[in-house]
Amino acid sequence: MADELRIEGLVARVGDREILHGIDLVVPAGEVHAVMGPNGSGKSTLSHVLAGRPGYTVTSGRVLLGDVDLLPLEPWQRAQVGLFLALQYPVEVPGVSLGDMLGAAFDAGGRDRSELASRIAGEAERIGLATALLDRPVNVDLSGGEKKRNETLQLGVLAPRFAVLDELDSGLDVDALRACARRVEAATTEDGLGVLAITHYRRLLTELKPDVVHVLARGRIVASGGPELADELEATGYASYLGDAAEPEPDPAAEAAIAPALDPFADPFADPLA
Ligand code: ADP
Ligand code: MG
Repeated sequence: MADELRIEGLVARVGDREILHGIDLVVPAGEVHAVMGPNGSGKSTLSHVLAGRPGYTVTSGRVLLGDVDLLPLEPWQRAQVGLFLALQYPVEVPGVSLGDMLGAAFDAGGRDRSELASRIAGEAERIGLATALLDRPVNVDLSGGEKKRNETLQLGVLAPRFAVLDELDSGLDVDALRACARRVEAATTEDGLGVLAITHYRRLLTELKPDVVHVLARGRIVASGGPELADELEATGYASYLGDAAEPEPDPAAEAAIAPALDPFADPFADPLA
């Protein structure tokens, strides 16, 4: 069995609108693949479809983690197989502590809880998250940077096989960025973690070293190359990949197709009444 995350011909839509028009990507264990692209190109959609967010319809294609077909699985089953998603906008979960949440994940995966507390403490130290924050409900009243450290801590404790990082760098100051990127990079070398790192900016990729950089524009991978492609994009921007046609405006009817209150992946900054 090849230890890889394999995405083949993935076509996905939200409501009536097709967002991903056929994505092919293979991330072998231990490698970092960056997906870069302008706003609205479908990067978060790709991460949500991989994780199984409700409201997205896959009309063709496959996603394999090792030899397991992910698409028929529920989100929690995908996590058990070894997929991890760090959200672009980490969700606050009032009433649930980090220990409760990770403990439930350990129980569900049949893992031994006895080392959980020491693992959380060790990861907090490694990632520079104040231990005083560990007793708070998940992400409640944390700053943007603390939330991203918290996501990275969860990754460290859960030790998944593949991680999709959706703009781990957004809202991070330089120190937090370095700490989070270094922790993920260490997991790739120490544990063979495979990473799909979605980002706008090259700065994430100085500590988290990509093996391959892909450009996603208008729902398609339009270029792939080595780390030098990220440097080139930083200098030239994405204009040359966008062609003449502007990105269509978001479709409010399609947005409404997802009930925000029921959607654990929802962007908390979106106004449900807008
Ligand atoms: P990126 O993360 O690259 O900025 P997204 O995947 O968030 O892009 O969005 C790609 C396109 O899909 C955008 O035009 C966006 O409006 C649309 N889209 C994304 N999520 C939804 C949704 N839940 N409902 C309706 N349209 C959506
Ligand atoms: Mg996004």
